[in-house]
Amino acid sequence: MKNTRSKELFERAQKSLVGGVNSPVRAFNSVGGDPLFIDRAEGIHIFDVDGNEYIDLVGSYGPMILGHAHPKVKQAVKEAVDKSFTYGATTLAEVEMGEMIQEAFPQIDKVRFVNSGTEAVISAIRLARAATDKKKIIKFAGCYHGHSDALLVAAGSGLATLGIPSSKGVPEEAVNNTLISNYNDLESVQKWVDMYPNEIAGIFIEPVAGNMGVIEPEMDFMKGLRKLCDDNGILLVIDEVMTGFRKKFGGAQDHFGIAADITCMGKVIGGGMPVGAYAAKAELMDQVAPLGGMYQAGTLSGSPISMACGLATLKELKNQDYDRADQLGKRVKAKLEAAADKAGIKVQVNQFGLMVNPFFTETPVRDFETAQTSDQAMFSKFFWAVAEAGLYIPPSQFEAWFLPIVLTDEEVEEIERRIEKAFELMK
Ligand SMILES: *Cc1c(COP(=O)(O)O)cnc(C)c1O
Repeated sequence: MKNTRSKELFERAQKSLVGGVNSPVRAFNSVGGDPLFIDRAEGIHIFDVDGNEYIDLVGSYGPMILGHAHPKVKQAVKEAVDKSFTYGATTLAEVEMGEMIQEAFPQIDKVRFVNSGTEAVISAIRLARAATDKKKIIKFAGCYHGHSDALLVAAGSGLATLGIPSSKGVPEEAVNNTLISNYNDLESVQKWVDMYPNEIAGIFIEPVAGNMGVIEPEMDFMKGLRKLCDDNGILLVIDEVMTGFRKKFGGAQDHFGIAADITCMGKVIGGGMPVGAYAAKAELMDQVAPLGGMYQAGTLSGSPISMACGLATLKELKNQDYDRADQLGKRVKAKLEAAADKAGIKVQVNQFGLMVNPFFTETPVRDFETAQTSDQAMFSKFFWAVAEAGLYIPPSQFEAWFLPIVLTDEEVEEIERRIEKAFELMK
């Protein structure tokens, strides 16, 4: 794999950008070697600056569910750009996006658009506290909800990859009110509720964990959380930044038949532009300014260009076959298992719709602790073998692979061939 140009650019990048990147996982720290610099992408194919072609299973960590530069999305963005970029006033596209979200999530009356998933969750914390007049929040070890102070503890992927337990610069006071429980362990939640009755504003959870690798919740666990919240006046905040519009047109919570009190979104709803959102029933959302006393604002919130990109993406997704999408995920999972078995390598492959994740361990992975049993050195070796075979996957054991929903049967076969080749290269 030729990488002269990527190497050159990385050298240069490190002189002006921290670690040569603008988000830590892009630095390839956990797999060693230099990061690839990307030149362009089209459909499912991504090309680095040295001209190598890969099938892209990173999808910019989630947003690019339609593949790259989808013609209809591109057209919508071009039309928006032609009008100008931002006005500081509400535009039609925002209203249409709001209506689209309402249609996709039956439990949502109103939505507020922001610029990132991080911002969506920060706002949801504030809303949960404002609405309940309580301070404490519960999060789960290994779940990531963006880089805000209050939730940057036991926060999965980026931190786990870098071996940072939690971030420097987060004062104790900022996390004093954050309680950590274990995923798929209701008792670890009950414990806090018993210890702090009437003090917990919200429970924050990824409905399918995707930032400690892919981990599905057990049904009893999710149902139990909902009941615990109802019985104790706690708001259930479901962070669908990763899962929204990925398993079905709507949320993973709808897939599981569990309704959040507050839903956070991001990634797919921006279609590749910076968009986040938080949303809930009117009685909660009407507490946000200008209707209510909870302040939250943004110069570029609901940016017409981002909205055009997101709206075109969601319109296109509405016509996609999500049942078939799940089959695509299952095929890739089956191939990973078969090829690993053939190579005599132990894997556990977790999959939820288009999200797939191989762990190099014999232990079934159901929480952060079991996720960490994966053999990191084996993952690094696998990462470079997979790159050599022509697949671009996240350079971290704890990041989900995102398959594009637009994959044709032939393209899945090509992915299968490349997986097979990668495991052969590992021998
Ligand atoms: C990516 C992610 C976030 C943060 O979103 P950004 O747009 O990166 O700020 C929050 N929650 C979950 C579940 C995510 O996957």
